[in-house]
Amino acid sequence: GLSPEAYRRRHEISVSGSGVPPPFTKFEDTGFPSELLKEVHQAGFSSPTPIQAQSWPIAMQGRDIVAIAKTGSGKTLGYLLPGFMHLKQRRNNTQMGPTVLVLSPTRELATQIQDEAVKFGRSSRISCTCLYGGAPKGPQLKELDRGVDIVVATPGRLNDILETRRISLNQVSYLVLDEADRMLDMGFEPQIRKIVKEVPTRRQTLMYTATWPKEVRKIAADLLSNAVQVNIGNAD
Ligand code: ADP
Ligand code: MG
Repeated sequence: GLSPEAYRRRHEISVSGSGVPPPFTKFEDTGFPSELLKEVHQAGFSSPTPIQAQSWPIAMQGRDIVAIAKTGSGKTLGYLLPGFMHLKQRRNNTQMGPTVLVLSPTRELATQIQDEAVKFGRSSRISCTCLYGGAPKGPQLKELDRGVDIVVATPGRLNDILETRRISLNQVSYLVLDEADRMLDMGFEPQIRKIVKEVPTRRQTLMYTATWPKEVRKIAADLLSNAVQVNIGNAD
């Protein structure tokens, strides 16, 4: 196998932060449970993508991450699978609210994330639901009331539901801002900030973005602490 440095060079991975762990170049390096490895192999994946290889060991140390990588690089499983490991360690009573919260800019993307969470989480009995606008709240609230480990939500709809006090975020300890740049472009910053105020400060926060403009840097500086930055290719 390649040394960590050679792997990073070959895959154009740059990292900044102290004590960054070496990438998991093979699925077997991850320590994922065998039922999860089986799912991954059944999906036809032969090795982690570069963003997965480098962000998994960091996320699994419980550290905050900013990951900058272009679309199609496998970011979803980049945060979901360490989220599953997080859930394994601290499984809360789902009736008290979700442990993992993923914010996503659109209904379509949120649904895709939920599909991945359901597909890869099934063998670990992880439950997930999705909250988005443009659809009635009733069925979404009903799903929430059943209790779920993971909520994937658009900021607008989650904010609406928070106002009705039908969800509590005080069990959330793993927070993901996916497509952070796009959420900010869409004007969701005030909603994101309101949502994050309801999440305990003792948490792990992961931010995934395709670009790294100053607005994204600012919100990262405000919401993350001592984050490791992982950059793939010439994505910004
Ligand atoms: P991004 O969020 O970076 O745009 P996605 O997470 O949507 O990318 O992943 C893009 C596609 O790659 C999806 O179809 C996903 O199932 C697939 N994929 C994820 N991880 C791997 C892997 N390790 N090997 C091959 N394909 C993968
Ligand atoms: Mg994505």
